[in-house]
Amino acid sequence: MKKAITMMLITAMATTLLAGCSSKTTAPVASTDTKKVSIGCTIYKFDDTFMTGVRNAISAAATEAKSSVEIVDSQNSSATQNDKIDLFITKKVNALEINPVDSAAAGAIVTKAQAAKIPVVFFNRMPAAADMAKWDKLYYVGAKPEQSGIMQGKILAEYWKAHPEADKNKDGVMDYVMLTGEPGHPDAIARTKSSIEEIVKEGIKVNVIASDTGMWDRVKAQDKLQSILAANGDKIEAVLANNDDMALGAISALQAKGYFKGDKFMPVVGVDATAPGIAALADGTLLGTVLNDAKNQGIATFKISQLLAEGKVPTTENVGYTLTDSKYVWIDYKPITKANMADAK
Ligand code: BGC
Repeated sequence: MKKAITMMLITAMATTLLAGCSSKTTAPVASTDTKKVSIGCTIYKFDDTFMTGVRNAISAAATEAKSSVEIVDSQNSSATQNDKIDLFITKKVNALEINPVDSAAAGAIVTKAQAAKIPVVFFNRMPAAADMAKWDKLYYVGAKPEQSGIMQGKILAEYWKAHPEADKNKDGVMDYVMLTGEPGHPDAIARTKSSIEEIVKEGIKVNVIASDTGMWDRVKAQDKLQSILAANGDKIEAVLANNDDMALGAISALQAKGYFKGDKFMPVVGVDATAPGIAALADGTLLGTVLNDAKNQGIATFKISQLLAEGKVPTTENVGYTLTDSKYVWIDYKPITKANMADAK
């Protein structure tokens, strides 16, 4: 009897849990009338922590919808990406998902795809508006990068105001280092600008000690900060990085100089809320980050391309995400600190 009651309770709890999970799903992935179509996807390079998250989300969404997407690595080379696209065109795929190696090369990709009548969903690196206007079968899925910069700036400004000791030389100015992503990348440009503008808007004076590119890469950023630290000693009061991988590289360079032990601290902020980024929030080395929602970006990219491949017109209703100007899906960022890091998991 007791065993039977226990079993009933377990079943009831499991049902409640499952119901709770499914109600959270904002975008239905599986569609009952999914046709067998082929979709070709190129990622700018596989060796990128954030893009690995997007890639996994695309694969998972395709599996869930019983569809398939062939995903290839462009190895950070526009020439390689071009070859891969040519191959997809020869194979007569029904839709393309393209994470451009270079936004400036998107125009040529559009010309090719249009000639072959293959619709394209660009994602993560936004082509110029003029290129997006060239054909009505072009879409873009991404996030508004200035939003992430503003959120980073707010996290740092809040910390600065609450911690007067952060102003080490007591001159009332935040002396910072900026580690930027790839030069020319729209996210790198916008985050670099809007983060600092937000800090100034919060009434804080700023001075840039150094600004250099870490190419979105952890090891490169570590090397860069190592040199900057060697040249500037204790002058640095904050480090902003355009993404978490570079923030983590900066943290390693700082640790080598004795930071994050005792009360020797440096506020470091990143963007993405990757798993290693969250681990650094948990251990108190990373002050803050911003969730760049790889999962929803991947799902939206897949949903739109699947509809296009089936010859359907994507709409807000059938995609499950708001389609702005009939072609853009914007996924919101979210500020993440130790206090709400569970929201990013
Ligand atoms: C991410 C970076 C990533 C880049 C790749 C950005 O949105 O924040 O981590 O390296 O996209 O294009």
